[in-house]
Amino acid sequence: MDIYDALRFSAAKISNELFSAGSIFSVYSLATTFLIAVCALAYRRKIRRGRVNLRAIARAIFNKRILLTKSCAADVNLFVLSVVLMPVVVGALVISTNAVATVVSATLHSSFGARAPVACCDLSIKIFSTVVLFLAYEIGYWVDHCLKHRIPFLWELHKVHHTAETLTPVTNFRNHPIDNIFFGYMLALFIGSASGALAWLFGKTTESFTVDGKNILFLLFLWTIGHLQHSLFWIPFRGVLGHIFLSPAHHQIHHSTDPQHFNRNFGSVLAIWDWMFGSLEIPSTTNPRLKYGVAEEGVDPHSSFGLLAIPIVNSALSLWRAAADAWNVAMERLEQRRRERPKSTSLS
Ligand SMILES: [Zn+2]
Ligand SMILES: [Zn+2]
Repeated sequence: MDIYDALRFSAAKISNELFSAGSIFSVYSLATTFLIAVCALAYRRKIRRGRVNLRAIARAIFNKRILLTKSCAADVNLFVLSVVLMPVVVGALVISTNAVATVVSATLHSSFGARAPVACCDLSIKIFSTVVLFLAYEIGYWVDHCLKHRIPFLWELHKVHHTAETLTPVTNFRNHPIDNIFFGYMLALFIGSASGALAWLFGKTTESFTVDGKNILFLLFLWTIGHLQHSLFWIPFRGVLGHIFLSPAHHQIHHSTDPQHFNRNFGSVLAIWDWMFGSLEIPSTTNPRLKYGVAEEGVDPHSSFGLLAIPIVNSALSLWRAAADAWNVAMERLEQRRRERPKSTSLS
């Protein structure tokens, strides 16, 4: 493959990402998000100033101080890298999800016996499967995200997402490739387990409502408020709604540099896991003008080196330190037992 083939290949992948209805970054979902952002801003300005100025709204959405930053350029670079590499990762994940589903279904089969295929209610089963697989995605996302904030060597990779100093919809792609792979395998585990359980329960492989392989409940979120999670628009859900769904403001709190916001709001669409496990932070009604990023000295976090190489080095160092600590603890325990042995011998 020469340079022109590589460019053509990359352009085709990016075009597919932009124009497939089920993709994470389709122009259609961006268009609906844009409309929602315009309506939200117009409503807010009407309430505050009694009139709507479309030019001011356009300036707020296409804010040069955000779009022309090194942070935003780094997001775009990782978007291209992620979209071009995605087919390799997705291919491996489909195989993994199917393998997990087969193992779970076979385990349930051998533990609880075979179940006859359900011959009726296809639509109800399809709706039920869609909801179960969406919940499996959501739990998988929450567990993955929580682990990445709690385990130091995983945090070093996930930190790439948090070094973004400005948030735009492209920030969704600001992830280290290894972080993406880990996320994919975590999803394969949760979605594969749910698929296997459904196949055993109904005695057959069940179908769900999807567009280009993506669950429609997730796409509904993406086509409404999903892209606004990474944006400058403070749209908070409060009360009961804010305990069930994560608003754009919930996720902006997750990116905040304020220490009291660290390790809050790990979820994707649903807030219920954060609520259940005590990590939910309900956003305030007024915009607190949060700052984003991770304060670190040394390498530029928006350079290729800072985005791709440094996280691997730091993650490996962190893993090495954890292994060395575990080794030291094991040696101390062994030494302690050795010291106690003569005493127990002399007592007997
Ligand atoms: Zn995070
Ligand atoms: Zn984010």
